Amino acid sequence: MTEKQEAKRHGRRLVVVVYPFQGHINPMLQLATILNSNGFSITILHPEFNSPNHSNYPDFSFVSIPDGLSKTNTVSVSPGDLAATISAINRNCEAPFQRYMEQILEAEDPPDRVAGVIFDGFMYFAQRVANHLKLPGISVRTSAAASLFAFAVFRHHDGHGYIPFQDSLSQLDQVPELEALKLKDIIVSAAANPALLELRAVLTETTKNASAVIVNTIHFLEQQTLTKVQECFQVPIFPIGPFHKLAPSSSSSLLEEDTNCISWLDKQAPESVIYVSFGSMTSMDENELLEIASGLANSEQPFLWVVRPGSVRGPEWADELLPKSFWERVEEGRGCIVKWAPQKEVLAHGAVGGFWSHCGWNSTLESVCEGVPMLCRPFFGDQLLSSRYVCRVWKIGLEMEGVLERGKIEKGIRRLMVDSEGVEIRQRAKGLKEKADFCLSEDGSSYNALNELVQHILSS
Ligand code: UDP
Repeated sequence: MTEKQEAKRHGRRLVVVVYPFQGHINPMLQLATILNSNGFSITILHPEFNSPNHSNYPDFSFVSIPDGLSKTNTVSVSPGDLAATISAINRNCEAPFQRYMEQILEAEDPPDRVAGVIFDGFMYFAQRVANHLKLPGISVRTSAAASLFAFAVFRHHDGHGYIPFQDSLSQLDQVPELEALKLKDIIVSAAANPALLELRAVLTETTKNASAVIVNTIHFLEQQTLTKVQECFQVPIFPIGPFHKLAPSSSSSLLEEDTNCISWLDKQAPESVIYVSFGSMTSMDENELLEIASGLANSEQPFLWVVRPGSVRGPEWADELLPKSFWERVEEGRGCIVKWAPQKEVLAHGAVGGFWSHCGWNSTLESVCEGVPMLCRPFFGDQLLSSRYVCRVWKIGLEMEGVLERGKIEKGIRRLMVDSEGVEIRQRAKGLKEKADFCLSEDGSSYNALNELVQHILSS
């Protein structure tokens, strides 16, 4: 009997706890789809805030719990508010979650018994509830293994870690534990925000208490780091990523995807378009928007640009801001601007030759899996780590850091899309895609890790 059939036979249910932001909703619903196609029934538990669209997932049960935040969809919060938001969600959701779990455990039929709680690591209250109810709790890291490790390494106040860091440490270019990643990238946000330090400590402790950790990564992308994560956390680690390729799931976008950009891409030459998107949380000021617009216009490359409502501090939408002279410089049909794109479809489109990204981990994996080279503009948090991986470790992208200025943008785009330097980077990106494809195929590392995960859940 296959593991999938075995799971079905026992009618095991998994309760999947989702953290309510786009970059977490997508991978958690993808993971739920993977587990469902391996025979588990799925209940998605999510806060009221930023509720996913239930009708896109008819096979799942959904439970929404009060989070005390807001009844309306607000999609993103500012990065500075993140630690406070995470703490509030954890404080407010724990009691309703525990009540819900107690009810279903009392009511459940033996053939549909709860096999465990799979929770986004940011929803750490779920681990406490799972412990209390003597259920296995499996923590999910939707970002790189390196960021999980960074949380553990950079949280100490006692001299064993890097916080508080001295000036000399902040000059260090290398983190001994994390090859090729810059120390300053990891400490910079934490040093400025004590709430974030505290959050890292809680996340690390919860992860150590989980029965296992699922990471949305591919073994070969983070081989050394995964070994260190394993040593540090001492629980089974399952790198089964990239989730979006293992079980392509329905859209979980909170904003409506504008599919017109696909017909626009159909009209462009192969690998000619630079796709520009900075994800669901970043924001910029009007001046930065205008510099990007000028850089794109002057680059003379076709571009598809996502300007999310709310991403420019001030006016609602870029059309109100971009001067007529911008469209005059962008000759007929060379540019397309949308509020939200079907990103995975865009990156898989043959016309796309480069991705100017903020390096959110989902965007990074989506680009890697389509062999699209990147221009990296990290804004905060783990985006800095992903950018280092892309540019310095895998060498499939170029850094675009510092002040956004039209000349620098034009040059960066041309280096990636036109110059011989870009040709080499593109070749490496294609090589990385092939390796990623192999890991997903039968006997590849992600395929094997997924089978081991299913076995782990069934034997818990
Ligand atoms: N995304 C999308 N359309 C867009 C921009 C982003 O569907 O126009 C998706 C993207 O495919 C990814 C997620 O939104 O799955 C963003 O997650 P990521 O980790 O890259 O960044 P975050 O938004 O968390 O900063």
